[in-house]
Amino acid sequence: MTYFAPSRFAFRDEDIFDLLGIGFGPSNISVAIAQREMAPELRCLYLEKRDSFGWHDSMLFDDATMQVSFLKDLASFRNPRSHFTFVNFLHSQARLADFSNLQTLFPRRVEFHQYLSWCADFFKDEVAYGSQATCIERVTHDGTPLFQVTVHDVDGERTVLARNIVHSGGLIPHIPFPAPETDRIFHGYHILNRTGSIPEGSHVAVAGAGQSAAEIVQYLLRQGARVTAILPRFGYMPADDSPFVNQVFDPDEADTFFDAQDRTRDKILQMHATTNYSGVDLDLVKEIYADWYQGRILGQSRLEFRRMCRIAGATVEGSSVTLQIADELAGATTALNVDYLVCATGFRPSSACAIMSSELQSQVTTGEDGTPLFARDYSLVTSLDADTAVYAPHMTERQHGLTATLLSRMAVRSGEIINSVREKAASHRRRFPRTEQVHAAG
Ligand SMILES: Cc1cc2nc3c(=O)[nH]c(=O)nc-3n(C[C@H](O)[C@H](O)[C@H](O)COP(=O)(O)OP(=O)(O)OC[C@H]3O[C@@H](n4cnc5c(N)ncnc54)[C@H](O)[C@@H]3O)c2cc1C
Repeated sequence: MTYFAPSRFAFRDEDIFDLLGIGFGPSNISVAIAQREMAPELRCLYLEKRDSFGWHDSMLFDDATMQVSFLKDLASFRNPRSHFTFVNFLHSQARLADFSNLQTLFPRRVEFHQYLSWCADFFKDEVAYGSQATCIERVTHDGTPLFQVTVHDVDGERTVLARNIVHSGGLIPHIPFPAPETDRIFHGYHILNRTGSIPEGSHVAVAGAGQSAAEIVQYLLRQGARVTAILPRFGYMPADDSPFVNQVFDPDEADTFFDAQDRTRDKILQMHATTNYSGVDLDLVKEIYADWYQGRILGQSRLEFRRMCRIAGATVEGSSVTLQIADELAGATTALNVDYLVCATGFRPSSACAIMSSELQSQVTTGEDGTPLFARDYSLVTSLDADTAVYAPHMTERQHGLTATLLSRMAVRSGEIINSVREKAASHRRRFPRTEQVHAAG
């Protein structure tokens, strides 16, 4: 018999989990918190491919701040009395008074990273780190319909059985033009892992006009690089965090959005895209402008802009990167040679369907545009037995709104998922009773 062993417990292959989480980033940590507070009877296991917890640490600039209020932590909006609030974290670190003197709702990302790590630590016994889910299949085990997940870890491959799956695989870096990924051309997501190899004075092109692109431009300037910012717009647009527009993120608005017609939802997503990552924090826009202007005063600007431009393709030869730039203002495509290209060109949600067997994929219901449909409880609509489900909350932007990949509604959303899993698991157990055991590993 083989054993699947996250830190303290060993699980036998034939054990069945009520909830198997794929990924242990903020989304599934908040699911774990909701489960512990609302349904401790559920048997859960989380798979995380990283060897330890980390939250976008390759973009964790020392002075970058959160884009949402700390009140939108992993628990407060669902249960303000939770042990897992950001305020309780500060209290546990003896920093509550010091933090309050900052007079801000927006902590630095490094501090929020500490908070998330602190939360994750309380679930060590339920998380198998270094374990990547590679395939989800539908199986019938002793007459019981279940999901079987293949897991790849340091010891090879094994399988886990579960009634329900919560896939929170997060975002995947996206580069929208043909370019080889090398040490000279890379996605901005890897910036802090790569800058050690960029010598001071190098000429770096940064493609993109969102929050990450602006943060990277500022960071590279401070590292002594010469930067060409390639903007698909005329200039950086400020993120809209004004109060009425921000209500689009309120937990109560989930129903409004979900119940709206497709075309109305699409309109809202389009109209308010700058509430999300495509807009830049206004203070940061002003700081970059001030740095650019200072360069003008001193006659030694290291920042230039190519406006209304898109990269059509990039190639590398030796130490030189050649960009083909489609310039909408000039109505022409021109070449630009630089030393490095950083693509701050956005992300796409990872797809739960991408790791499903083709048989399971064929049971997922899709809309007219071919994308999967979701129920209000964030589970994929399928032709499977209603007592088992695959939830993929980060894939639900089209139906549940702009918060799908953000922190804003995570706490409440996780409570909704746990309520749904609890009901399904109870019904499934009644219909398919069997003996299940979890063994303490010596
Ligand atoms: C630099 C940056 C800053 C951001 N700042 C903010 C912010 O201030 N406010 C905000 O609301 N949002 C922010 N976001 C958006 C971000 O999506 C959320 O903050 C948050 O990370 C979403 O949590 P998640 O758990 O869904 O995804 P992730 O944090 O990406 O976590 C997903 C986890 O799943 C794991 N995983 C993936 N596939 C598998 C698999 N097959 N098997 C096992 N494990 C797997 C990954 O290793 C990862 O740990 C930011 C994003 C970036 C890139």
